[in-house]
Amino acid sequence: MIDTTSARSRLERQLAELEARQAHLASDLAEPLDPDSSERAIEVEDEASLEAQANLVANEIASTRRALDRIADGTYGECVRCGAEIGAGRLEARPEAALCIGCASRDA
Ligand SMILES: [Zn+2]
Repeated sequence: MIDTTSARSRLERQLAELEARQAHLASDLAEPLDPDSSERAIEVEDEASLEAQANLVANEIASTRRALDRIADGTYGECVRCGAEIGAGRLEARPEAALCIGCASRDA
């Protein structure tokens, strides 16, 4: 039996942290590049990695929200693909996990 109460609080905390990181990344991305800067090449590189990070964070936010939706639906802890139990250990490590270890490793 999965303790969805503690899973929910972990997911909510995770979501708040991710949203704070997203806001921070968005403000970093909004900073205009200085065209005279000798560090321009580095800034452009930073900008690309900021965008990559922002995409990653956006994906994590989406999967965290979906996990919270599954708690609300009562389907949390079931693999969204095959319906098998995801397993407490896996949920402990990744509370937002949507796939059981079998489906996840077939994807990898
Ligand atoms: Zn599965």
